Amino acid sequence: MAETTARPLSLYVAGDAPARELIQRCVHCGFCLPTCPTYAVLGVEADSPRGRIRLMKDVWEGRIAPQNAAFERHVYQCLDCRACETACPSGVEYGKLVEAARSQVERTRPRGAVPRLVRWLAFDQLLPHPRRLALVARLTYLARDLGAAALLRLIGRRIRLAERLAGSLDLVPSGAPSAPQLPLVFPASGERRARVALFQGCIQRAAFGGTNAATARVLARNGIEVIVPEEQTCCGALHVHAGERASGRELAKRNIAAFERLGVDAIVINAAGCGANVKEYGWLLKDDPLWAERAARFAATVKDATEILGDMGLTSTPGRLEASVAYDEPCHLLHGQKISAQPKALLAQVPGLRIVPLAEADWCCGGAGIYNVTQPDLSQRLLHRKMEHVRAAAPDILVTANPGCLMQLASGVRASGMRTEVLHLIDVLDRAYAAAS
Ligand code: SF4
Ligand code: SF4
Repeated sequence: MAETTARPLSLYVAGDAPARELIQRCVHCGFCLPTCPTYAVLGVEADSPRGRIRLMKDVWEGRIAPQNAAFERHVYQCLDCRACETACPSGVEYGKLVEAARSQVERTRPRGAVPRLVRWLAFDQLLPHPRRLALVARLTYLARDLGAAALLRLIGRRIRLAERLAGSLDLVPSGAPSAPQLPLVFPASGERRARVALFQGCIQRAAFGGTNAATARVLARNGIEVIVPEEQTCCGALHVHAGERASGRELAKRNIAAFERLGVDAIVINAAGCGANVKEYGWLLKDDPLWAERAARFAATVKDATEILGDMGLTSTPGRLEASVAYDEPCHLLHGQKISAQPKALLAQVPGLRIVPLAEADWCCGGAGIYNVTQPDLSQRLLHRKMEHVRAAAPDILVTANPGCLMQLASGVRASGMRTEVLHLIDVLDRAYAAAS
């Protein structure tokens, strides 16, 4: 008689375990492996989507605990770029799995005082508070201008956190932070085709507020009235990606309450990472009887700015821009929201733009939320790979559509000494409209 080994029950703690039914969809075919950036760089099965799913299954089957150090390392070395989702023929929703796995790590693995303090400051005291974040953004730009990165690197030989802070300063965009106070309403030009609410985001608002203003201008110019509700807050994407699902839920509820009574046709977001997260509020709150339905209804009205403009079509012809452009697809737009045709179609409508192909434009640049801070070495290896392709394409403008990608790509371009400008797609359109005026 075959010997059977009794396995203990799942070692996940209650709530937010990686969904067993999603894990069971994986048939171990390996089609996702060639699309996984961490597998390409590290060449380790446990750093592939299939390997990480296997680890999550091992916790369900009691073989390892979620506080296991290898489990933590492999789920955090994942970019959460979701390229594996696009490749998977079995419909494995990998992003939901890895985010739940991280939540289990955070709830079971003891953290030291410093990491806990950093998380509390970032997730609880900064991201949900626009004024505090704007102040920190201004101080960060000042520290960059004063050359603090070099000093931190000297200290960083002894203190790892200083080295990380120096790496973060390398990501600060050129120029000054752009955080204009937007009007409450941008009236539609000509006949009004729709009325939407603009989701401003947290880092997007503090560092790339000019892109929010450009988004409202471009939409309004194309017959879409834009309102800018003041009561909104951070979408919680960085919280959810970092395993802080409870905080992510609280932020989701605040946003739902702020937007749902506005009676708009759509909620428009220009940050791909935020958009992918907000479109999954229904999943995040699915077990909350008071919020599940409201969250699903809210999520269904969310559109990326390129999505709504591409789907509704431009009614105003952009002016001429003589430049070559390459489009680097943000992972959370391409893989997270399955939006690819609309941004490309919008760029193709700008007279004078020459679109040049970019190899591996569908691969993560290594930005991946705060991955460039938490996994600096891996992030840099992916950024170098991306910069080799940018150098080969040699565009005048490198276009993307997410604040994290903008910062990562711009830092790569600066470090490589290229003259390529890095812009959000909406800023390219806004510039083209300015040229038409
Ligand atoms: S999300 Fe990206 S890095 Fe993570 S397993 Fe999938 S393809 Fe690999
Ligand atoms: S492609 Fe999908 S089913 Fe195949 S190994 Fe990857 S996650 Fe599993």
